[in-house]
Amino acid sequence: MKVFYTSEHQSHAPESFMLRGQRVPCPEIPQRAEILKKAVSRHELLKCSNHGSGAIEAVHDSNYLEFLHSGFDEWSALDGASPEIIPNVHPNRNMSHVPRHIVGRAGFYQSDTSCPIGAGTGAAAVASAQCALSAADTVLSSSEDRVAYALCRPPGHHAYADMAGGFCFINNVAAAAQACLNHGATRVAILDIDVHHGNGTQGIFYHRNDVLTLSLHGDPDYFYPFYAGYADETGIGDGLGANRNRPLPKGTGDSDYLQALEPELEAIMSFAPDVLLVALGLDGSEHDPLAFLAITTAGFRAIGERIGGLTLPTVLVQEGGYVSNVLGDNLSAFLAGYESSSESVTA
Ligand SMILES: [Zn+2]
Repeated sequence: MKVFYTSEHQSHAPESFMLRGQRVPCPEIPQRAEILKKAVSRHELLKCSNHGSGAIEAVHDSNYLEFLHSGFDEWSALDGASPEIIPNVHPNRNMSHVPRHIVGRAGFYQSDTSCPIGAGTGAAAVASAQCALSAADTVLSSSEDRVAYALCRPPGHHAYADMAGGFCFINNVAAAAQACLNHGATRVAILDIDVHHGNGTQGIFYHRNDVLTLSLHGDPDYFYPFYAGYADETGIGDGLGANRNRPLPKGTGDSDYLQALEPELEAIMSFAPDVLLVALGLDGSEHDPLAFLAITTAGFRAIGERIGGLTLPTVLVQEGGYVSNVLGDNLSAFLAGYESSSESVTA
C-alpha cells in the first residue's frame, strides 16, 4: 500500500486551545504524524506531490482560503495579539455580515477555539490536502493500486466550505472526493469513522447526490461537534438521502460498533460508488485522550477487514487520533485488517 506523507505538517504546531473555559495544550501536535509515520514503515512511503488548487478551491470559499493564508499577518499586527489566532467572538444565528476587522473575520471563519492558526498553518493545511489528492490520484490512475493511505495532518473533516473548526482547516477528504469526480468518477462515497461527526464534510456535500456521506461517531447530544451529526440529517434538495449519520452512545465497544457499521457498508454498496474514501480517525480508541467510544486495537483491525471486504478502490485519509501508547498500533491494525480482507477476496 502506498503511503503519502510530507514533513510540511510540522509548520503547524498549535500551542493551545480552549477547553471548558481553560486554555490547555493542543493535542493536535506534530508528534501524532510522526507516530503514524513510524506505524506505516513497512509500506512504501512517498512524498506527496502538488496536484494544484482546483479541487481545494472547488470545495472551499475563496474568501475563507484568503483568510487562512493571510489572516495571521493581520492578527500579528494587532496590539497584544496572541501568538496564534484564537477567536473570542462569533456571529450568532441572527448575524451574517462578514466584517473587515481581523478579529471579526477570525470569528466568522473559525467556528470554535480549537483551530488555532499560526504562521505556518495555511501552508501545512494545503500540504495535508495534497497528501489526500496524491493518494486519490494514485488510486484513480493505477490499476495496481486499489488502495492508498494519506497521512494527513492537520486533519480536515470538521472544515466546512468557509469555516475551520476542531483542529481542521482544509477538508482533505472532501477535496480528494472532488478530485475523483473531476477525474472521471461519477459517484463517490465518504465513510467517516472518526469518533467525531464529520460535520464539515457533511456541510460541503449536503446538497449533492454525487457524493454519499456517512459518519459513525459519538452522540453529538453529548459530544463535539454538538450542533450536527444527528440521524435525522439526511441531506437537502438533490442531496436528500445522500447523507447518513449514526450517533453512538458513550462507551460503545467493538461488537456494537461493528454491528452499527454493517448497514452503512450496505448503503455504500447500494450506492455503487466508483471510489470509496475513508475519513480514518483513530480517536474512537478506548485509550484516546479524547475518549468517548471504546474501540480496541483488535476492533480497528476488524473495522479495516470489513471495509477492505467491500473491495472498492479506496482512498484512506487520516483524520483524528491523538497521542496514546496504542495510536500507532491502531493504524497498523486497521491497515493490516484492510489488506487481509481485500487481498483474500481479490486473490
Ligand atoms: Zn476526531
